[in-house]
Amino acid sequence: MTTATTTAARAFRGTATEGRSETELRELVRHAGAELELAPAEDIVEWAVATFGVRFAITSSMGDAVLSHLAGTVAPGIDVVFLDTGYHFAETVGTRDAVEATLPVNLINVRPVQSVAEQDATYGNDLFARDPDLCCALRKVEPLQDALAGYDAWATGLRRRETHGRVIAPVIGWDDKLRKVKVSPLARWTGEDVDRYVAEHGVLVNPLQYDGYPSIGCWPCTRRVAPGENPRSGRWAGTGKTECGIHA
Ligand code: SF4
Repeated sequence: MTTATTTAARAFRGTATEGRSETELRELVRHAGAELELAPAEDIVEWAVATFGVRFAITSSMGDAVLSHLAGTVAPGIDVVFLDTGYHFAETVGTRDAVEATLPVNLINVRPVQSVAEQDATYGNDLFARDPDLCCALRKVEPLQDALAGYDAWATGLRRRETHGRVIAPVIGWDDKLRKVKVSPLARWTGEDVDRYVAEHGVLVNPLQYDGYPSIGCWPCTRRVAPGENPRSGRWAGTGKTECGIHA
């Protein structure tokens, strides 16, 4: 496993080729977005790998290993970025370790600049309870921005059906915040599609999924949901916050 604090993220991209200009990337989005909108997830990842090479990475929150499995099958050795916030459930860390041990991917464990203890010393204990937007910015958004500095495109496991006022993810889109191509190969998948892929390929799933946590984030900001509740309703419950800022 490569572990990187965010400022060192560029170092492990030593073999990366030169990136494209923003104009070129936007042009790619314009053409490929329409062409690939209805394509199978495997074809979307294949296109991204063929187009961006080592300047394409996927990200995973380790709720399951579907996208990691799919990408590792299409492009063995592909970079999988995990944001190690310091607040993950043990089950999520275990899923990350199992992904690294069993799948042909290059797991990159990205840590924030400050440890939880250092953040507590700077901002006071339990920042997540007082200012979750700042906590997410420090432990998720900024680390991701730094970690993806050496890439032109990134993929997420975002699915449109998980909506809770959530962003409608194009299959190939432009991420204005990161100024990169954002690829969502699973955007059109339903929960049944995920279940089918998991069953067909014996894919790792975070055990918390079977314990009332259909959407898994940091432990202070994730609660169980009742059957039939929106899966995202267990995230930052009672705060009005619904996203960490990565998919804004
Ligand atoms: S989800 Fe909660 S604990 Fe995790 S970074 Fe955001 S506010 Fe902090």
